[in-house]
Amino acid sequence: MYFLKDPGALLEEIALAAAARADSRDLKDLEETNLHKVLAAFQAEEISDFHFAGSTGYGYDDRGRAALDRVYARVFGAESALVRPHLVSGTHAIATALFGLLRPGQELLCVGQPYDTLKGVIGGLPGSLEEWGVSRRLVPWNEDLAALEEEVRRAVAPQTEVVLLQRSRGYSPRRALRVAELGRLIAAIKEAAPWVTVLVDNCYGEFTEVKEPTEVGADLVAGSLIKNPGGGLAPTGGYLAGRADLVELAQARLTAPGLGGELGAYPPGYRLYFQGLFLAPHFTVQALTGAAFTAAFFEALGFETSPRWDEERSDIIQSIVLKRREALLSFAATIQKASPVDSRHRPEPGPLPGYGDEGVVMAAGTFVQGASLELSADGPVREPYIVYLQPGLVYAHCRMAVTEAARVLAQKGFLPA
Ligand SMILES: *Cc1c(COP(=O)(O)O)cnc(C)c1O
Repeated sequence: MYFLKDPGALLEEIALAAAARADSRDLKDLEETNLHKVLAAFQAEEISDFHFAGSTGYGYDDRGRAALDRVYARVFGAESALVRPHLVSGTHAIATALFGLLRPGQELLCVGQPYDTLKGVIGGLPGSLEEWGVSRRLVPWNEDLAALEEEVRRAVAPQTEVVLLQRSRGYSPRRALRVAELGRLIAAIKEAAPWVTVLVDNCYGEFTEVKEPTEVGADLVAGSLIKNPGGGLAPTGGYLAGRADLVELAQARLTAPGLGGELGAYPPGYRLYFQGLFLAPHFTVQALTGAAFTAAFFEALGFETSPRWDEERSDIIQSIVLKRREALLSFAATIQKASPVDSRHRPEPGPLPGYGDEGVVMAAGTFVQGASLELSADGPVREPYIVYLQPGLVYAHCRMAVTEAARVLAQKGFLPA
């Protein structure tokens, strides 16, 4: 293996070639189109300094909160939106939508296995939809989208009230759905069952394309503010955007019927949410460039990656099949070491339900706890030892961290022969 002669110099060369490939992705138009969307929304809503003031108590007449909802609605091409620090995570945002929309006797149809934390929401845990008499069915994921479309079309039934689609790969070995593909799938569902509400789990997808699912027929989307749309600044929260009547149902569930979205104080004020949204198109493109670099680099080193470096993307996640347990742990350890926060912490595999005996290893040295628009990496400690990388806010940082991770792998003899 010729690496062993001068791994440093050779890796540097391969990294440079990968960086040239990443640059050739040319995501300037994507960034500009989405920034333009965000700016137009800010300007139409005449965002001003006073929108950043906090509120207390009931939070009546919190003008920042109301304006942020309207800005999000415009950005997502939706009638209405609900953007709240009181939504504690993406899971909570999606659960709030599900509980708001579904009634006893109705059915939730999931297309592909839903994200892990949602499984307990749907059934199996105390307080789940199942306990409220909501049934669920699964249409297994199929990479052949024409076949998937046909399977979904056949699966919708009179009792089906909500269809849940997931845009991103999440942490599963499927690919992300492009917005245009979501649009075709949604059209097929609506044709077969016009009464159905289509909810899209939009986590990790925001601003990776010039359109959002709400612009191609999704009735409601939900996501996390410590991922893409928070722009690295939002300290916590989740959002929903879509049809006004559906957002209202979710609001009634988040607070109480009659209170809806009119209450809910936030003493620190929403400045970081506005500024984060303004920065989100830029940071999302930084992440996408980091993902393309990582894919190009690890492909050149002989690893299998998904997506490939030049594939069109619809989320910010880059997976690499590392094939060996020790390679996965080493990769995670290097990402942690290269982080601005907790760089001396060593990630250890920890149990997580559904991930086998050894659980998952997670590297995240982030400013906002668990924020995965920031540089972070996770992987279930099981065959074939896939790492899922979130490339972070700063492309140069991703390049440094990933190059170092490869150098350490080379040093330990973990590169493919
Ligand atoms: C992150 C994520 C969620 C929600 O996760 P939280 O950790 O609760 O914010 C749901 N679905 C997908 C696809 C995700 O990536």
